Amino acid sequence: MSERTAPRTAPLRARAEIDLAALRANVRALRAHAPGAAVMAVVKSEAYGHGAVPCARAAVAAGASWLGTATPEEALALRDAGLPGRIMCWLWTPGGPWREAIEAELDVSVSGMWALEEVVEAARGADRPARVQLKADTGLGRGGCQPGDDWAALVREALRAEAEGLLRVTGLWSHFACADEPGHPSIAAQLAVFREMVGYAEGQGVRPEVRHIANSPATLTLPESHFDLVRTGIATYGISPSPELGTPADFGLRPVMTLSASLALVKHVPGGHGVSYGHRYVTPGETTLGLVPLGYADGIPRHASSAGPVLVEGKWRTIAGRVAMDQFVVDLGGDEPAAGADAVLFGPGDRGEPTAEDWAQAAGTIAYEIVTRIGTRVPRVYVNEEQDG
Ligand SMILES: *Cc1c(COP(=O)(O)O)cnc(C)c1O
Repeated sequence: MSERTAPRTAPLRARAEIDLAALRANVRALRAHAPGAAVMAVVKSEAYGHGAVPCARAAVAAGASWLGTATPEEALALRDAGLPGRIMCWLWTPGGPWREAIEAELDVSVSGMWALEEVVEAARGADRPARVQLKADTGLGRGGCQPGDDWAALVREALRAEAEGLLRVTGLWSHFACADEPGHPSIAAQLAVFREMVGYAEGQGVRPEVRHIANSPATLTLPESHFDLVRTGIATYGISPSPELGTPADFGLRPVMTLSASLALVKHVPGGHGVSYGHRYVTPGETTLGLVPLGYADGIPRHASSAGPVLVEGKWRTIAGRVAMDQFVVDLGGDEPAAGADAVLFGPGDRGEPTAEDWAQAAGTIAYEIVTRIGTRVPRVYVNEEQDG
């Protein structure tokens, strides 16, 4: 991912400003939400589009003692960048880089027998035992080992390999399906299954360093789910997991990313003028149009056509017609900002700009997807990199 450090020398077509002071403050807020647990900053998929390495460094500086990624490649890249401490990754497929992961002292997740066999095989040739976290499916119905016979067999084989010195079972863990829906009956059900599966494994002799199930919504709203470690992704970036739960400010969080662009053109057009592909917008009268140089190649959802909000010179404007690959248009209602004027798509919201949540509503998706999809063509500009007490 391209990165720049402010102050920048040349104006940029568009930029995603990443406020690392906000990120650090969010991590501190999350530690306060889960005082009895360690915090894992989840930095998968380039830290939800914010840039993995700078965000991981900032999160560690603010007291996140674990980093989490989906793929082993993402985790290895963090280690290669010099990030210390515990790094866990959970999305493995057969033939994955187990040996490299063991030597980089990553914590690796194992959901099934094929993975246990591969990690044990890799550990035979390595100079240290693998750190293995057994993942339980407590009801999500996605990754993880099913309770019952499958779990019993996985625990048994893991203990056998541990006795041989090939691995350490460092964790027992799971993931929620509906933690963002307060009171959903699956939450209590999953917690009960998790306690049972952890209890079984510990009864067989597993001594995990960490037991964990909480994602951001559970960290913010379900203290009984915190156990030893909470895995926070979206909240680290200052976005509420769901507007139903509350706003970022309700949880002491501040959005980290501000996405803006420089208007590429401002021009007068007559009434009745079709705008952008398909002419889905027709000017209702004489007006001015502003050209925003961002499109779906940059991660602006095409589903936000005729809906996405943009702040230009203090006023909210709405996308006029379709989002194209590289650009979209806003109707400026006769205002005449200069070419190069700032168009702010989203940010923290306290300077009058829309938020990623507003874009999620406009596009019929979740704010997670809005920030994560912002493409590599948009430079990330890091601000407030210095540690602030
Ligand atoms: C992405 C992810 C998280 C973080 O989820 P948020 O809702 O963003 O906090 C936690 N755990 C696992 C397994 C994940 O894949």
